Amino acid sequence: MKCPVCGKYASDDSMKVAEHMMRKFDEQHIDWMEAHGLKQLVLNGVNENKKGNYRLLAQLLDKMATKTGG
Ligand SMILES: [Zn+2]
Repeated sequence: MKCPVCGKYASDDSMKVAEHMMRKFDEQHIDWMEAHGLKQLVLNGVNENKKGNYRLLAQLLDKMATKTGG
């Protein structure tokens, strides 16, 4: 799947895409996460070491990929 925000990153692994979004963490990506109810994740984003935080985002990406057929 592609990064739904910038489309510049793609991986078969939703965790990798989630990680990309958390790494980028610019206004574009933060706005998208907030718009999709992940404000909590954005706030937690400062704790970069907590990889478990990506899971919520990855799950959302998976859900969206299923809906749109990838
Ligand atoms: Zn991106």
